[in-house]
Amino acid sequence: MSSDSFDDLQTNNIFLVPHVVGRSKCIAKIAFSAGSTILSNSSFADVLLPSEKSHRCDYCHHLSGSDSLKRCTGCASFYYCDPTCQSMHWKSGHRKICGLYNSYTSASSFQALEEHKKMDALLLSSLIAHATLLVDANERNSDENTAFLTFQALLPGPMAASAPPICPKHSFPAEVIQELYSRFENNNFSIHSHFKTYAHGIFPIASRLFNHSCMPNAAVKFILRVHKPVKLEVVALRAISKGDEICIPYIDPALLQTRTTIFDLTYGFTCCCPSCNVVRAIGMIPEPPKGQVEFQAVCKRLREFVEVMRLSPFSTGDDSLFPRDLACVLHESFISTLSEHFSAASHDGQYEVAMESSKSLSAFYQLIYPPNYPQIGLHILEKAKTCWNHLVRSSTYTMSIVTELERSLVAAREVFTVIGLEGDPDNGPVAEISILSDAKKSL
Ligand SMILES: [Zn+2]
Ligand SMILES: [Zn+2]
Ligand SMILES: [Zn+2]
Repeated sequence: MSSDSFDDLQTNNIFLVPHVVGRSKCIAKIAFSAGSTILSNSSFADVLLPSEKSHRCDYCHHLSGSDSLKRCTGCASFYYCDPTCQSMHWKSGHRKICGLYNSYTSASSFQALEEHKKMDALLLSSLIAHATLLVDANERNSDENTAFLTFQALLPGPMAASAPPICPKHSFPAEVIQELYSRFENNNFSIHSHFKTYAHGIFPIASRLFNHSCMPNAAVKFILRVHKPVKLEVVALRAISKGDEICIPYIDPALLQTRTTIFDLTYGFTCCCPSCNVVRAIGMIPEPPKGQVEFQAVCKRLREFVEVMRLSPFSTGDDSLFPRDLACVLHESFISTLSEHFSAASHDGQYEVAMESSKSLSAFYQLIYPPNYPQIGLHILEKAKTCWNHLVRSSTYTMSIVTELERSLVAAREVFTVIGLEGDPDNGPVAEISILSDAKKSL
């Protein structure tokens, strides 16, 4: 989230302008086509989720079996592809952590922290270790130092929780540590591969530049590179005109009921995007009906509405176009119930039921997400897999299912052509689409 000072940050393609209510805006200097990379930003500090530890290189995040990764002989707690990744990680902060890591993580002060606080403590430790090495090296003009200064200049979050204990020895005053920690909840990124979180990281320039929208015109993805830290890329989800503000989603816009509270408590702002304006105008969101028949009737009504809507009211902000008898679809239990219906039917081979739920899910996504949002593509791919499984299980060749499979693969490919590859090179949605497309030819 951007603050008002430090407004000189710009690239050839984007620039920051002060916002009327105080928050800077990132504006497109040029037109971007859908799928263009707007900004690339390497990680300043990151930490793997505990479940990923020893499966991924602690430096470049390459996914590998624990046998093929080399363990740091100092602490025996960090893993690397090879000596190059180890050396790069050593220079970017591990040197300050290695000798102290095991006593730090086994201390009762660390063990007493909740799991998410442990992640924060490790990330803060990694940030301080990296910054300490920059201070030691007196590298005032490096990109790394700019990144650190940028992080310090970000707006703090609204919560004033005290900083957890940190690992490396350093010379920063306690107030500076607290200041840095106060920027954590609202500025850290979940790092994902194939849109599943595997690490947390700090990308100061990206935090500095982009405001949030629940109907964003851009989204974040992560690129893994050999012997380099993970890179965040901001990608245009649709064509963006010169002069448009570029926004990314800080959280999943599908959290239609809780997101306002999250913005308020974690980020300290009120979202004024078109989607939030509609949600505010609707007010109390009723629960969806419990009965199967009534629930299905709501789904049918939703599909009918989305089929004829020109633009989603959630993208235009015109709440008068959103029928109030559909307000219950905004209840977060609606999407979770519908997703369960789809998964269960798909798993049990109830093809017709799965397709019905899938159509309702797609309608919901079209309503609340912008075009080409990753979740849209991920669901269409699940639908394609359901079609494929049904074709394989049933002994008869059913033309309508083959057609549905083809349609789904084309639609999923369209979404992922815009977003491009993300995270691990293998087994991602793009690879799955190719595998299914090839398999289809053998039908
Ligand atoms: Zn590596
Ligand atoms: Zn070590
Ligand atoms: Zn919003």
